[in-house]
Amino acid sequence: MFVVKVGGSEGIDYDAFITDLSNHNNYIIVHGGSSELNQVSTKLGHPPKFVESVSGYTSRFTDRKTMDIFNMIYAGKMNKMIVEKMQQININAIGLSGIDGRLIEGKKKKSLKVIENGKKKILRGDMSGMIEKINHSLIELLLQNGYIPVITPPAISYEGEAINVDGDRCAGQIAVSVKADQLIILSNIPGLLKDPLDESSLIKNIKIEDIDYNIQNYAKGRMKKKLLGAQEAINGGVKKVILGDARIDNSISAALNGKGTIIE
Ligand code: ADP
Repeated sequence: MFVVKVGGSEGIDYDAFITDLSNHNNYIIVHGGSSELNQVSTKLGHPPKFVESVSGYTSRFTDRKTMDIFNMIYAGKMNKMIVEKMQQININAIGLSGIDGRLIEGKKKKSLKVIENGKKKILRGDMSGMIEKINHSLIELLLQNGYIPVITPPAISYEGEAINVDGDRCAGQIAVSVKADQLIILSNIPGLLKDPLDESSLIKNIKIEDIDYNIQNYAKGRMKKKLLGAQEAINGGVKKVILGDARIDNSISAALNGKGTIIE
C-alpha cells in the first residue's frame, strides 16, 4: 500500500499521472490545488495572501471568502477533475475532502503569529489548523469495497468548521494512519534541490536524522512543509518517502523505481 500526493503547482501533468495509475493498485491519492486557487481567487477579486510564521514557514491566510473559493477549487474542480479522469480509465475513484465523514480532523488555530515587514504580528480571522486525527476506518471501508479514495484538504475542526491544512502533511498523516509502507510526494520539481533554481542539484538520499538540516539549509517556502510531512510520516512508521517529479510520464512508477529524493 502506498499513498501518493500530487501537488497543485504549475507544470504538473495530471493526464500522465492518471495514465500511470493503471500500472498500480492498492493506493490512496491526496492532491493539492494551490496554483489554480491563486488564479481563480485573483479573478474573483480576492487575491491570495501569504504569511510567514515566526518559525519561518509560509502559509496561505485563509479568511472565510478564501475558504469558500478553496472548497470550489480543491474539493470541486481539482478533485472532480482527477476522479473524472480516473473513471474514464475504469478506476473506481471516489473523491472526498477532509470534511466529508470527518475524514481529517484537527484543531483550528486561534490566531496566527506572523512576521510582516520584519515585525511580529498576530492575525485573526484565519481558518487554518493542525491535523490531529485521520478517520482511517472510512478510508478502509472504501478500499475494502473496491473504491480508490482521492482525498483533498480542507480538514474539519472539532467544532465542525472547515480548516485549511497542509496537503503534504495530510498525505503524511494518512500514510501513517493506514500503515502505508511508502509515501510519494509529487510536484513540479525533480525532488529536493540544493539550489531550488538548479535542477541538477538534486539531493538523492536523505537519512531521517538529517532531515532537520535539510529543512533549514536547502528547503525554501512550501518545500519545507513537504519535508515536514515526510518527517512525520517516517516517524509514524512509513518506511520510505519519495519526493518526485509530476511533470514527467510515469511519474509514480519513476518515483517507486528510485527517481527523485528518497527519505528513509
Ligand atoms: P505543490 O503545490 O505541487 O505541492 P509547492 O509549490 O507547494 O508544490 O512546492 C514546490 C515548490 O517548492 C517548487 O516549485 C519550488 O519552487 C519550491 N522549492 C523551494 N525550495 C526548494 C528546494 N530546495 N528544492 C526544490 N523545490 C524547492
